[in-house]
Amino acid sequence: MMSNPNPRTEEAQRLEAARHSLAHLLAMAVLKKFPSAKLGIGPTIENGFYYDFKLPKAISEEDLRGLEATMRALVGEKLDFEGEKVTAAEAKRRFKDQPFKLDLIKEYAKEGRELTVYRSGNFTDLCKGGHITNTAAINPDAFKLTKIAGAYWRGDEKKPQLTRIYGVAFTTKKELDEHLAALAEAEKRDHRRLGEELGIFMLSEKVGAGFPLWLPNGEIVKHELQEYLRRKEVAAGYRYVSTGALASGALYEASGHKKYFKDDMYRLLDIEGKELFVKPMNCPHHHVMYQKLVQSYRDLPLRLAEPGGIYRNERSGTLHGLMRVRGPITQNDAHIYVARNDLEKEFAGVLGLLKEIYRELELKNYWFRLSLPDFAGKNKAKFGGDKPLWEWAADVIREAAKRSGIEVVEAPGEAAFYGPKLDIQMQNVLGKEDTIATIQVDVLVPKRMGLIYINKEGKEEHPIVIHRAIVGSYERFIAFLLEQTAGRLPFWLAPVQVAVLTVSDKATRYAEEVFRNLAARGVRTALEASADTIGKKIRASELQKIPYLLIVGEREAQSKTIAVRERGKGDLGSATLAEFLRRLPGH
Ligand SMILES: [Zn+2]
Ligand SMILES: [Zn+2]
Repeated sequence: MMSNPNPRTEEAQRLEAARHSLAHLLAMAVLKKFPSAKLGIGPTIENGFYYDFKLPKAISEEDLRGLEATMRALVGEKLDFEGEKVTAAEAKRRFKDQPFKLDLIKEYAKEGRELTVYRSGNFTDLCKGGHITNTAAINPDAFKLTKIAGAYWRGDEKKPQLTRIYGVAFTTKKELDEHLAALAEAEKRDHRRLGEELGIFMLSEKVGAGFPLWLPNGEIVKHELQEYLRRKEVAAGYRYVSTGALASGALYEASGHKKYFKDDMYRLLDIEGKELFVKPMNCPHHHVMYQKLVQSYRDLPLRLAEPGGIYRNERSGTLHGLMRVRGPITQNDAHIYVARNDLEKEFAGVLGLLKEIYRELELKNYWFRLSLPDFAGKNKAKFGGDKPLWEWAADVIREAAKRSGIEVVEAPGEAAFYGPKLDIQMQNVLGKEDTIATIQVDVLVPKRMGLIYINKEGKEEHPIVIHRAIVGSYERFIAFLLEQTAGRLPFWLAPVQVAVLTVSDKATRYAEEVFRNLAARGVRTALEASADTIGKKIRASELQKIPYLLIVGEREAQSKTIAVRERGKGDLGSATLAEFLRRLPGH
């Protein structure tokens, strides 16, 4: 058994000990139900604990209630936890029927660690301690087993797959209830669930893990967002380009990606004796274009933009809906080639554009991380080039951030292999932190790839490159957007903006007329003229989070009006179509 380090306060420490002890009780309950179960490990985690088991048969959520009842009974038995030091030989004897424990004993013995076992009732576990003294200290109403998942022994997919049972535990029942309510809300906002309900995307085993399929509604959202970014970027002086999905290995050799990024890239078989890779990044392609487009300082800054689809070899265990995919990862990518003296101005320009876009998209809960090299850490070999140049670049970022009124958290060791970067961090509904967007300063690759321009003095110089993706990848960004808005996308992004619903078939012809009128004006409109009741149609449309519902019955057909309902506001009364159109953003 392992326990999490650093519980801060005394109460937190008590709760931590209770969670740890509950993991033991879970193992006891499982052994009672399945005496032949094999035990893995059972650590505490945020808000609770888990335990891994090899079970003789699959279990369901319903079994969890039975296990919980057994655990509650064990709490009532007021069992003591008693520890004892043992030798490796003694430990091996006691756990002779527990192969995973034997694995651990062997490993600990090799490391020369002292072995301890803890007994509660008739159950003994290999464990380094950190329990309550008696189960009477556990509140039987403040814990719950929450879910079942698969997990490989030691996280290694070549080893046996175990059943992981998760639980949460708190000091009071009220805290437990609040936690469960927050969890249910988070689940409702989970982009994988919303993506399914709103017809945004799907995943299919037939296609393969990590390759999402954008459904018609999702393609609309992605397309509208891309168009929006394109308008903003073109107005800010970016020039759009496009590049292909494959490239020669020599290109990535030159850029350094083959050296630093090889495990993340998909390599194709040698073709006509040449090695090919699936594009893992757009930069090298843009760098090649730079060599065609730039001769002198007069051609700078050059801002090349591309919603470029790239592919990365992500581990299957890390894939997560649209948040983490293998491809295409459609980056909102751009590279800005700039003379040294203009770096700060250009960097501040990117920050200004980012702030404007995030404000317009009403994004909340994000923060800035300045990712720096760690020249003393164990990965120091990752950060190439000369140190003063890195420090200069980091200072430029600090200065640009300060001027833009942005606070940054510094993170040594998180830099790219070619320079420091400013990452925009955000938390998903499950509490996991991810980088949503990034602005990076590249002090290395321009030199490595021989990018030059003639400066004012007629001398050759290397530009600095800013790699930036203001909304990161469209996949991850839309996942965040779905979670932040709970699927209530703003009008301009909504796949269906207006639904026309008929009260009875006497209004069908008029409803069709309204529908055609809206569609002709470019409003994404749906017509719902089935025989279902109007109540049912309204509920179904509300579940689709459609911004406006127009309800038409016989009365509306006669008076040539519509009854308007707005998402989140309800009934707005009746209006003519012209009045309604004036209300719509951009119409
Ligand atoms: Zn323990
Ligand atoms: Zn790049």
